[in-house]
Amino acid sequence: MPGGNTRSVLHVPPFPLTIIRGEGARTWDADGHEYLDFLGEYTAGLYGHSHPVIHAAIREALADGTTLGGPNRYETELAAAICGRFPSIELVRFCNSGTEANVMALSLARAATGRRKVVVFEGGYHGGVLYFHHGGSPLNFPVPFVLAEYNDPAAADVVDEDTAAVLVEPMLGSGGAIPGNRDFLQALRDATRERGTLLVFDEVMTSRLAWGGLQEVLGITPDLTTLGKYLGGGLAFGAFGGRRDLMERFDPSRDDAWPHAGTFNNAVLTMAAGAAGLTQVLTPDEIARLNGLGDRLRDQIAELGVDATGYGSMVGLHGVEHAYYGMLERGYWYARRGFVALSLPLTQEDVDGFAAALAAELA
Ligand code: PMP
Repeated sequence: MPGGNTRSVLHVPPFPLTIIRGEGARTWDADGHEYLDFLGEYTAGLYGHSHPVIHAAIREALADGTTLGGPNRYETELAAAICGRFPSIELVRFCNSGTEANVMALSLARAATGRRKVVVFEGGYHGGVLYFHHGGSPLNFPVPFVLAEYNDPAAADVVDEDTAAVLVEPMLGSGGAIPGNRDFLQALRDATRERGTLLVFDEVMTSRLAWGGLQEVLGITPDLTTLGKYLGGGLAFGAFGGRRDLMERFDPSRDDAWPHAGTFNNAVLTMAAGAAGLTQVLTPDEIARLNGLGDRLRDQIAELGVDATGYGSMVGLHGVEHAYYGMLERGYWYARRGFVALSLPLTQEDVDGFAAALAAELA
């Protein structure tokens, strides 16, 4: 692997630590050090490590085989749970990552509208080929992107008659946990509706923040929504869904059906783990409890004079990169750029411990 690495974000100089085990809210590295996990696998680890209900679902599915070559009995359960949760999702399709979900949503938008351009935002991240920090990446998906300013309601003015889609995170995730202003997102909704452009909310990270995602909190319904991360129960997952008239184009019984393939789109273990998580573990109350812990952490960190952004269980720490290695030594695991995503097994004591450790480290 180039640089000994197959996932760039995990590289930390001089070299990253190898994690060999996780249980509840804790992980252990190959040298035997124990960490409280405040990274939560960049939001994909919402359920924590080794959740007994999810493990039982995986074990049960595993016993009947994992590569069956046909529709399985778990995918409809997961689809129903997702469509029941997110107001904008009338029909859903599964894929293998958030990146793939966004690529499919943009391809669908371009095919459905017959238009070329896609509006995206500075600081946005939608996957390995949809990277818009610092002006973008040479590896980006070859679509004519128009880069606009996040949280600037005037950005809606760039939507024109050749714009197929506006792709936006309702809160910038990798871009620093910066919530989107309601006025900005509503301006995008109004402009896209008026000009026949599709509004795509990337809720790959933010779907965890409310039962119906941030779209429910904002009261804004996009045409398409993309999902990923924890919704696969901790296994590789992506999904895109939305308006029935758009998604119905994938109905294979139609003469003019559009193809959407993917060997592992309905991967048995993912479907089983995802369905168990959504129907047996996650509840609106649990989401609210975890968001409360995030609010508490943000308040305590702000009291240290540190800029702490985010919403609920996703927290962005700014200007404290130098504290990262010290926090590791104190047993707290999070992203070096200052990203924290809480997981269900974390307690108030754990959160208070994190804030106290950061205070000591900064002192
Ligand atoms: N969209 C957002 C908002 C993300 O944060 C990510 C991953 N960090 C993705 C898309 C891509 O998801 P994946 O890593 O599963 O391809």
